[in-house]
Amino acid sequence: MADIIFRNVTKRYGNTLAVDDASFTVNDNEFFCFFGPPLSGKSTILRLVLGLETPDAGEILIGGRPVNAVSPAERNVAMVFQNLALFPHMSARDNVRFPLVERKVADAEIERRVADVAAKLHIGHILHKPPGQLSGGERQRVAIARALVRDPNAYLMDDPISALDARLREETRVELKRIQRELGKTLIYVTHDQEEAMSIADRIAILDNGRIRQIGAPAEIYDRPASTYVARLLGSPVMNILKSVRGESGVKAAEGAVSIADRAAPAEAVEIGLRPEDIKVSPWAEGGKVRPARVSEVEPLGGYTVVTLTAGQARLKALLRGQPEIRPDAMVAISCEPGRVHYFGQGGGALAR
Ligand code: ADP
Repeated sequence: MADIIFRNVTKRYGNTLAVDDASFTVNDNEFFCFFGPPLSGKSTILRLVLGLETPDAGEILIGGRPVNAVSPAERNVAMVFQNLALFPHMSARDNVRFPLVERKVADAEIERRVADVAAKLHIGHILHKPPGQLSGGERQRVAIARALVRDPNAYLMDDPISALDARLREETRVELKRIQRELGKTLIYVTHDQEEAMSIADRIAILDNGRIRQIGAPAEIYDRPASTYVARLLGSPVMNILKSVRGESGVKAAEGAVSIADRAAPAEAVEIGLRPEDIKVSPWAEGGKVRPARVSEVEPLGGYTVVTLTAGQARLKALLRGQPEIRPDAMVAISCEPGRVHYFGQGGGALAR
């Protein structure tokens, strides 16, 4: 069992609160992702798990055992660093064997583990080649195999694929997800890329200045962000958040250009959130109750089109399917199903409808 538990863990560097009263449980076999902007405390959490840092307050448990006073070596958690470069003068096999040879593991055991990890990563047929003769994707798989061959309690990865180009990154994250499932190991993964966090994790913890703002499955965090902070971190484009006023029959925002007929809207709501894909754009007809919005930019992306709209002081983005006939400067009506609207109160906390 390698569940990892933080109980009210705080870590300071001088006056900086790098991790602020963090409590969470990473379950055994879980792919758990920390996501947040730079300097939000992600790497410090990994260093605390590894034992490279000691908490100023709180307790850390690995597999049920308190480890505050346990050395990094005894914790048996493996860090996969950002740099996945291979040794160019060694064959792929020797690269994968390297961490075990270094630890003086018996030859027969080395052969067994290398064969096992090679099968899982589908690299058995290229192990005899030097890195120079491998494709980018193959080199990446060999590097991951080298990291995984040690068989620790849990793996930690700090932005391991951020240096790769976009296509290779997409391939590698699918691969990592599959490998983690097959290895059946706990994996804590740090990324600053929301798409990566959403696609790869069983659960995500959202960090802000050392504080955990929300923990949940990707779909749960996306559909029910606990605050405007979290709402603004996920999605492409991100959620539109508009100042709103409550009327008798519902809510109005963007100087009347958005009108939501939702009698169940919470009275304390001061902002509404609309995901770009939930916004409907239609031709505006004079004489209606709703004020128009003006199209300011149209970005066709092939399967989707991002339309930027201006309504009074508000700017919002809609994500429309296909390539609709919409031109800059057109006047349009914006609507959104009441069930898709997010409500936020004073201070940015999400409100239940
Ligand atoms: P992230 O990984 O999200 O970028 P870090 O965990 O590296 O964030 O940093 C969290 C905060 O702690 C930042 O304000 C950073 O400047 C500070 N910090 C991290 N490591 C050190 C250190 N060794 N000495 C002083 N301050 C540090």
